[in-house]
Amino acid sequence: MDLASKKRKVKAVKEKVNTVRNLTGGGSGGGGRNSGGGGRGGRGGRRGGNKKGILAIVAIAAIVIIGLGVFALFGGNVGGLLEGLTGDGETVLVDANQPDAPGGDAQADAPVPPPTGEATGEVRVHFIDVGQGDSILVQCDNHAILIDAGDNRIATRETILGYLADMGVTRLDYIVATHPHLDHIGSFIHIINSDAVEVGRVMMPDVTHTSAAFRNFIAAIDENDIPATIATQGHTFRLGEMDFTVVAPGDVSFSNLNNASVVLRMTHGANSFLFTGDAEVPSERNMLDNGMYLRSDIMQAGHHGSRTSSSSDFVAAVNPRVAAISVGAGNSYNHPHTEILDLFEEHNLLVLRTDELGHMVFVSCGADVLMPDGQRLRSLN
Ligand SMILES: [Zn+2]
Repeated sequence: MDLASKKRKVKAVKEKVNTVRNLTGGGSGGGGRNSGGGGRGGRGGRRGGNKKGILAIVAIAAIVIIGLGVFALFGGNVGGLLEGLTGDGETVLVDANQPDAPGGDAQADAPVPPPTGEATGEVRVHFIDVGQGDSILVQCDNHAILIDAGDNRIATRETILGYLADMGVTRLDYIVATHPHLDHIGSFIHIINSDAVEVGRVMMPDVTHTSAAFRNFIAAIDENDIPATIATQGHTFRLGEMDFTVVAPGDVSFSNLNNASVVLRMTHGANSFLFTGDAEVPSERNMLDNGMYLRSDIMQAGHHGSRTSSSSDFVAAVNPRVAAISVGAGNSYNHPHTEILDLFEEHNLLVLRTDELGHMVFVSCGADVLMPDGQRLRSLN
C-alpha cells in the first residue's frame, strides 16, 4: 500500500532470496549453522539431530529445486525459446529485483542496470506509421522483432507486409503482442499467415480478450504452430547486439487490459529505448515499486500520449530526452493529450510523432542515435 511497507516487502523478498542463495551456494556443506530449517532439527541425541538436520536440508534443497523447476516452466518458455532463436547470443535470465549490489539499504533499493553487450553494428528502430495504433520494428543484423502490428482496418496487409519487405525482413525472431487490443494486434494475422515472413515466436501477456481480433490472432498462431511465450517481468534476453528487458507487466490488476501491456527496455551499447505499449499509471507505478531499471534515452509515450499514462514520476525515472508518440492524425481520442505534451515540455523532451512525421526511424550505432529529424542523440543514461 504505502511506499514504506512496499519497500519492507521488497526487502523481505531480497532477504529470502539471499537465504536461498546461501543455502544453495554453501549447500553441500551440510553443517551450515542457520540453514537447517530453524528449530525443526529437534533434540533426541546428536545422531538423531544430525539425521533430522540432514533431512531438513534435503527437504529444503528439494523445495528449492522444485521452485526453480516451476520458475523454469514459466520463465523457461522465454529462456528456451531465446536460446533456440538467438544462436549467437546468450540468453540471460536476470531478476532485476535482486541486484547483487553490495552496500547499504539505500543502495540496495536503487535499480541496477542490466548488463549490456558490445555494440559494433547498427540497430534500427522503426515506429511504423500505422495511423492510430502501434507497430515498432527493431532490427539488428539478421535479427528482427516486431512489437505490435497496428489495426488491420488501417494498417492493411499491403502496408505492414510492404514495410517489412522494404526493410528486407523475411524473418521475425519475435512478434510481441503487447496486449490484445485491435490497434496493436489487428494486423498480426497478415504477418502470421504470410509466406513472405517467418515468425519464430510470439510473446504476449497472460490475458485473453473476447474480441474477434483476438480470436483471429490466436487462431492464426495455432494454425501456424507458432510457439508462444508469456512475458514475465524482469526477464532479459539478447538478440544480436540488442539487449532486452521485460519491465512489465508485473503483478498489477489486468482488469484494464492496457495494464497488461508488455513493456520492453532495449539497449544497444550506450543507447536505450523504452517501448511502453498502452501501459497506464498503475503499471508505471508497479515498474517503479518493483525496482525495474527504466532509464532510457528514447521513450515511447505510453498509450499514444494519453493522460492515462506518462505520470510525472515515471517520466522522471525514465529520464528520456525524446518522447516518441505513435498516434493517428485527427484520432477520436484526441491523443496525444495536451497535458502530456505540456509535461514533456517541462521535462525538456523532444517530441517526435508519427502523425506528423510518418514512419520514424532511429538508427543506433551503439555510441549515439541518428534520429528521424536528422539530429544525433548522445546518451545521458
Ligand atoms: Zn493502443
